[in-house]
Amino acid sequence: MPVSRNIAAMTGVKATVSENNVRLTGYTGSKRQVDAAALLDSISSYKRRHEITDPVLLVIGQDLFTPRHSFVFGLARAPAGAAVVSAARLGNEYYGRPACDDDLIDRLSKEGAHETGHLFGLDHCTDPECIMYKPDTLAELDGKKKMFCSACREKLFG
Ligand SMILES: [Zn+2]
Ligand SMILES: [Zn+2]
Repeated sequence: MPVSRNIAAMTGVKATVSENNVRLTGYTGSKRQVDAAALLDSISSYKRRHEITDPVLLVIGQDLFTPRHSFVFGLARAPAGAAVVSAARLGNEYYGRPACDDDLIDRLSKEGAHETGHLFGLDHCTDPECIMYKPDTLAELDGKKKMFCSACREKLFG
């Protein structure tokens, strides 16, 4: 899967892709969105039940929100080793533009690498081209390079 390959290339973390077995919780009908924090709770308890110690990154199609943000591209909880990324706002179609698989793969890779960075202890970065920069818009996400800045790379690979 190109996304997991890209994430591995960026983070140095070898990823195994599997079908999702986590029961998807947190769906909020009034918003037609999923509460990202509730979803991370579900991933955490799934990991505990199945004694999974490796970090888990869940990729879903539904749109995510948090109590503080009307939407988020993704969310990570480092102590639990749990993260989620949503594809809902990563496709051109969402913005009324022609669909493009390469764009979608690029954005999922960047978001996946970003949340993986959090799982390995990185915080947000002020460099707008760095993977750890927190994008609020698609344009900001597209403005990021598929790599960590040298400061973040240092922290990640020490
Ligand atoms: Zn972040
Ligand atoms: Zn950085």
